[in-house]
Formats: sequence, structure tokens, C-alpha cells
Amino acid sequence: MSLIVIGSVALDSVETPHGQREEILGGSASYFSTVASYFTKVKLVAVVGEDFPEEHVAFLKDRGVDLEGLRKSKGRTFRWKGRYGENLNEAQTLETQLNVLETFNPELPASYTDAPYVFLANIDPELQGKVLDQVKAPKFIACDTMNYWITGKPAALREILQRIDCLVVNDGEARQLSGETNITRAAKKIRAMGPKQVIIKRGEYGALVFGEETFAAPAFPLEEVKDPTGAGDSFAGGFMGYLASTGRNDHEAVRAAAVMGSVTASFAVEEFSLDRLKRLSRPDIDGRYEAFRRLVRF
Ligand code: AMP
Repeated sequence: MSLIVIGSVALDSVETPHGQREEILGGSASYFSTVASYFTKVKLVAVVGEDFPEEHVAFLKDRGVDLEGLRKSKGRTFRWKGRYGENLNEAQTLETQLNVLETFNPELPASYTDAPYVFLANIDPELQGKVLDQVKAPKFIACDTMNYWITGKPAALREILQRIDCLVVNDGEARQLSGETNITRAAKKIRAMGPKQVIIKRGEYGALVFGEETFAAPAFPLEEVKDPTGAGDSFAGGFMGYLASTGRNDHEAVRAAAVMGSVTASFAVEEFSLDRLKRLSRPDIDGRYEAFRRLVRF
């Protein structure tokens, strides 16, 4: 079943203990749609500026991502600059330039409006709301956000929480949103704000799914993490892509989808930008999924 995503398409400048890169392809929707394209038909809603390199558009097109909803506007592309220290689980934002995102008014192409699966990737919650207004009969809606929007647009974010099925955030964001330091209590408080399910990502410690029941998906143990940027979006891409490919959203399917999210996130962090995802194949994904079975069997 088809899946639509709204999010950022960005030029990132990133510094990690493994090196530094300037103006590389990034953005929540870029990671998400690339990963999800290995599972299902993905329809992208996003905006870039006139300075956005054509090769990145060509790459997404090659991946089979539907780009009818990708707008090119006058001005500069959204830019994010971040740094990771030895603790690779937490990004330090050095600079956020909204640029063309500031005036973006997403209008869904007619072919997008009956998508059953919707992912509201990290972007202004007001834009997330505008997209939701235009989807006719969504079956499953999941959403991501970050500190920038939790503090910058709290009212709009609260409204979104009442309209979604599942929130996917990292532990720092869950604590900030709920005001609770304990993760289990944080999840309970967030569920009381609207979403039936909350997935809390904990970097190298894996992800916890809080819903009717609680499920833990470990992170795949890697010897080297070069750049954690996009791990969350790649988790979400595997999670939603898998669910959309099965047409399900029951708890058993959500468990398998969370493991698939851990698998896809583990590839994203092996190299800078989307470099590893560009060389990914479905057998790579399925092979690591099987390795997960052995990892957690007891
Ligand atoms: P992740 O590491 O999965 O949480 O997401 C990283 C991506 O989020 C980067 O590629 C950034 O371009 C993007 N990003 C950072 N800040 C924002 C923001 N305020 N709004 C939308 N996207 C952002």
C-alpha cells in the first residue's frame, strides 16, 4: 500500500569523531523516503530551493520515489549544521536555516490524497497538520519531531498529537515533551496526549515500543558508527515501509516493523549522509533482519 511522507530535504554540514562533511544530502524526508522505497511506493511532499543539486533529485527518482509533491521554490534549500561528540546518541545542533521551509505551503497532488499510510517526518508541525488536512482516509499515521519544534511550536505539536496513531521520537525528545525523566513514565504521559503508540529510540540501545503491550527492539551491534545523522528517519522509513508493504498495523506487525526499523537505521549510520543507503539492496536488508532473529532468540 502507498505511503506519503512530508519532511525536510536538506543540505547538512556534519561533524563526527570520524570526520567532517559540508553541504551533503540530508533531511528527514530524504532518509525516510530512500529507506521506505525498498519496501513500498513512497510519495514525497517537500520543498527545496533553486540551489538544490539536480543529482540528489535524480537519485530519489532512481529509487522510485514519487516526486510529484516535491516543490522547487525561489530561495535557498533548508540547511542544518550539527556535531556529535564521543556520545554519538546525541546531536548538537549548531545552526538551523529554514530558508524555503519558512514559506512552504504543502499542496498534495490528487494522486497522493488517498494514501493509507502517512508519515509526518520531522518538520514544522503546522506543515504536518496541513498535509493531514488533505489526506482523505488514512489508515495509520505516524509522526516524528525534535527539540526545535517541541520548544518552538508547542501548541501546533499538541494538536498533531491528537490526530496521529504513533509518535516516533528519541529519548531526549520524549523527556522534553513529557517533562518526565523516566522513559516508561514519559511514554505513558505522551500516550495520554493522543497517540495510542509511542516508539522511543535510544540510539545504540535500541528502541522501545509502548502500546497495548511493550516491545523492545535492540540496535544492531556495529563496530563503527561514522555518522548517526538520519538514524531516526531511517528507522521510521523501515518501520513504516514494512507496515505499508504488509497493509497491517496490528501489534504483531508493529513488532516486526520495529525490528525492520532497527535494521535500516543500522545501515544509515555506517557512512556519512545517505552514502550507505545508496548502495543498499533488499538482500542486504533481509540478511540483517535474519541476523536479528539470532541476536534476540533465547
Ligand atoms: P535524525 O538524525 O534522524 O534525527 O534526523 C537528521 C535530519 O534531520 C538531518 O538530515 C537534518 O537535515 C534534519 N533536521 C534537523 N533539524 C531539523 C528541523 N528543525 N526541521 C526539519 N528537519 C531537521
